[in-house]
Amino acid sequence: MQRILPRGEIESLDHTHIPRIFQAESRFVFQERASRLRQLATDSPIQAYLLLMAHVADAQHNALAKYTALPGASAEQVDRAQTHGMPPLQATGWQRDPQWRQILADIVQEVLQQPDVLAAAQTVLKDLLQAIEQEPEQLEALADAMLARFEEGIDAARAPFVMAALQVYWTRLAVDFDTAQLPVITPFGVCPCCGSLPVSTIVRIGGSREGMRYATCSLCSTEWHIVRVTCTHCEDTEKIAYHSIADASEAIKAESCGKCHTYRKIFYQEKDQMVEAVADDLASLELDVLMGDEGFFRVNDNPLLWQSAKDS
Ligand SMILES: [Zn+2]
Ligand SMILES: [Zn+2]
Repeated sequence: MQRILPRGEIESLDHTHIPRIFQAESRFVFQERASRLRQLATDSPIQAYLLLMAHVADAQHNALAKYTALPGASAEQVDRAQTHGMPPLQATGWQRDPQWRQILADIVQEVLQQPDVLAAAQTVLKDLLQAIEQEPEQLEALADAMLARFEEGIDAARAPFVMAALQVYWTRLAVDFDTAQLPVITPFGVCPCCGSLPVSTIVRIGGSREGMRYATCSLCSTEWHIVRVTCTHCEDTEKIAYHSIADASEAIKAESCGKCHTYRKIFYQEKDQMVEAVADDLASLELDVLMGDEGFFRVNDNPLLWQSAKDS
């Protein structure tokens, strides 16, 4: 009779095993984003915005270190996720602890203290502080709408800051989650931990990730493996094409799918070691314009830049 090996042993026999996910490094994730945003800002047409978001990422870094005891998935939630092959920290419908609004207040206050924040952004931030105090239900509704990716009811000026707080909240949950508890299979195209969409994908260098492509979660910062030359939205492999801006960095391309007519950006670490999933996506809006002209759609917004329905 054949002996059936337990899962861990099978993996240890398989030397070509590709790590399925990488949890965010809580000490670096937002810090790296902040420094990349500053680097990209130097010759960017949206310099002021990138610098504002660098302050946001700095504040996220501090908040992630401060809020270390958020209630995670219960044993029952983990069980249910395993039974149904669903992400255990599913963002939509999650009972958020009110601490997330405290995280938001911390981020807003820290950004407001920076000397170079423009008047328009200051107004948005001060309004937000007031809303945290006086209209928390408004912010809960906005957070729900953003996590559910509703087309309407999203205040585009407040959204990046609210999303920044939600990112800290879910990054903490994901970092603290024991990945051995992940269901073996979760739906394609969404984060195995929280069920959110990826912001972009990166072809990595070094160690077990050499040449492998990982998607970065727009919410909980987890990275998960997706086979290359595969549509990250519909999983098609037949009509994949690559697009880039002439004279721009070779590290940045858009991967389009002729079947579902969407695209997502793909970054190549061998061409630029510093590429960062959120920062490089935000700083390459020119490529989004090109893709729009070629008739492809973005599946999801950058978490730090939202368009209101009427603008799009
Ligand atoms: Zn996630
Ligand atoms: Zn597709």
